Amino acid sequence: MKQRDVYLTEVGPRDGLQISKDFMPTEQKKAWIKAEFEAGVPIIEVCSFVPVKLIPQFSDAAEVLAYANLLPGLGVEVLVPNYKGCERAVAAGARVVTVPVSVSEAHSQSNVRKSTMEQVEEVKRMCELRDSLPAGKRFKVMGACSTAFGCTIQGAVPEADVVRAAVALQKAGVDEISLADTVGYANPAQIKSVFTAVRNAVGPDLLIEAHFHNTRGLGLANCLAAYEVGVRHFDSTLGGLGGCPYAPNASGNVVTEDLAFMFESMGVSTGIDLDKLVAVREMIRPQLPQTEFYGHLSVAGKPKNFAYAHA
Ligand code: ZN
Repeated sequence: MKQRDVYLTEVGPRDGLQISKDFMPTEQKKAWIKAEFEAGVPIIEVCSFVPVKLIPQFSDAAEVLAYANLLPGLGVEVLVPNYKGCERAVAAGARVVTVPVSVSEAHSQSNVRKSTMEQVEEVKRMCELRDSLPAGKRFKVMGACSTAFGCTIQGAVPEADVVRAAVALQKAGVDEISLADTVGYANPAQIKSVFTAVRNAVGPDLLIEAHFHNTRGLGLANCLAAYEVGVRHFDSTLGGLGGCPYAPNASGNVVTEDLAFMFESMGVSTGIDLDKLVAVREMIRPQLPQTEFYGHLSVAGKPKNFAYAHA
């Protein structure tokens, strides 16, 4: 078992591919997941159980999930937008489902045609489905508070609204929550303030994860700010894949290889082999010719004095 001080979840096969113009064939998705697993990435969000006609990219979700579940010790997560998606995912063997809940009412209405609290009710039904299963068959439900730091429709999102959504999700019975800067509006001071407020409201036992986009170049700074207030689980994508459907041409998620490099250089172990991770990037890059790749480590290489946190 690798020693890890922080846990990086690669969300590229989901957040990265969902707006990609390139369809990635199933075998290539599997090869990508396997290669990141072998590079030491502990958790991968592998697909989304959305209606196939909405996002054809995920028509092979069940097959990709079944494959990822076979990799020993890998944490496998999938995204589900609603109860129906959750049922499909669980039938396909999902162990962790991530459910987005927009803190911004305007975003929630435009995204899922439900209010924030109606979407929390949907999450509650998923928790009830979980609890109806025998102990060994129960999946985990992660409530992801999206647009927690700002919204392209509503603008500012009050901290009190984030706290209210997080507490409602906790009451609904989620196993974990994440706070997502879906549109890249957050800054480090805001990150510290909101994460601390949510932590104080939900107590010490509920795991809180960070999901940040690098839309305006603050992705790494925001991860560091979250780390400094106790966050140890971070979403990111290889090559910073992904992006913001509301800000065309803007860059995507936090770059996995750069984030792993930042933590390792600080003496904070990720359990990830950076050379292997950069090699995965080079492997998948030709498969997504219309997709922009971001990041610095892959261009500059490791510095001469670099040492892994637990060398
Ligand atoms: Zn995202």
